[in-house]
This record gives sequence, C-alpha cells and structure tokens, in this order.
Amino acid sequence: MSDTPAHGIQAEAHQGLAIGGPAEVGFDKRSLDHVPGSTLRGALASVWVRDHGPPTAGNPRRDEFIDIFERTVRFGPLFQDGTALVPLSAVFCKYPRTAGCRSWSIDAAVDPGAHLCPHCGQGVETGKGQLTGVRTQRTLRAGLDERGVPKDGYLFARHELSRGTTYRGRLVGHHPWLAEERTIWLGGKTSTNGMATVRIDTEPAPVPVPDSPREDGRWSSGAPAPP
Ligand SMILES: [Zn+2]
Repeated sequence: MSDTPAHGIQAEAHQGLAIGGPAEVGFDKRSLDHVPGSTLRGALASVWVRDHGPPTAGNPRRDEFIDIFERTVRFGPLFQDGTALVPLSAVFCKYPRTAGCRSWSIDAAVDPGAHLCPHCGQGVETGKGQLTGVRTQRTLRAGLDERGVPKDGYLFARHELSRGTTYRGRLVGHHPWLAEERTIWLGGKTSTNGMATVRIDTEPAPVPVPDSPREDGRWSSGAPAPP
C-alpha cells in the first residue's frame, strides 16, 4: 500500500456484464462476480486507443498512454452496489435449516471459535472471501461461428452481472485524461453486453470497498449465485 490518494470510480451498467472467468463449455456460461481491475484498465485503454491509435513508438501521445496505464494509476476492482465481502474469519452454519441457522454467524477474529451451529448442532463453514448479494441476469444467446454469424439452433445461457446497476471501486493515482465521463465496454465490446458509463472522481476520497482477502491482492472468482 502506498500513500498515493485513491479516487472513487462509478460505472453505470446499461447492459449486462459478462466478465470473463475460466473458459466454460456447456450450456451455462457464468460471469465473475465482480469486475477485476485488469478488465477496467483494459476497457479504458481500448477507449484511448480508439481515440489516439495504438501507443506504438511513432505515436506522439505514447507517453500519455504509458503514464496512465502502466505507470501512474493502479486500477482496482469494481463491485456491484449491494454486494458484501464475507471475511475469511466469518463462521456460519454450513447447511442452514432454520431462520436461526441463517441469521447466525460469528467472527473468529474476535469471538471464540465454534465448531457446531448452536441452532441445529451441525457443522459450520468459514468464509472464503466470497461476495454475497451479487445480482445477475440470465439470458439466452446465440452461438456465433468464426465469422460472427449466429449458428443455427445453437443457443447457450449466460449469467451476466445485472444491468441498471452501479459498480464502484477506486483508482490509486489519477491522470487528467481520466477526468472525462466516458462510455466503455466491460468484458469486451459486443452489441448486447458490457456497455457502461464511467465517472472517476477528480478529488481523492476514501471509498468504502473491501480490500482483497488474499495476500497477493488478487480476487477469487466464485461463481455468482443463481438469479
Ligand atoms: Zn444450523
């Protein structure tokens, strides 16, 4: 962690977000439950390249690209409003059967540990740093062939992070290029998903998003709960 100020970032999703996780075969394709910082960075870099061309050696604005995307700014993940991180120290009932089971949890960091749920007497589970409360939508998509033409009769279901929702995160560091409100595509530019309007606060401010539960700063990629 550095002392560089953090800037809040908000993305309004106008379409569902299909954020690539591990490649999946079969009928159901899932999305990550959040937008990784690398995805956000790539989406903004695509806009820069669209406006100014590839940042090759001959590009007069190449230094700006390097400054924003490789030097000055660290792009954090975006989380859907209403989601919460389950801490690694959380303990809860593994197979809740009653309302008591569902509402009971303790934090092993501050409470004495428990091996059994006090409501049903059965086993407990500990948090894995997963997100809860993630809203998704399930849509049917046509499979495309190599030329991008829909394949006859080939449909698959895709779980996307819900549209009409705000996703928030923070950047560490700032650059004047980032001050403008922009339309970006999160998870790849397609006609049916990914479009979002992104705004980055020019004034630094603390943003209440959780830090990664992992020491290496990465996020686990648990599949979202079924809608
Ligand atoms: Zn229980």
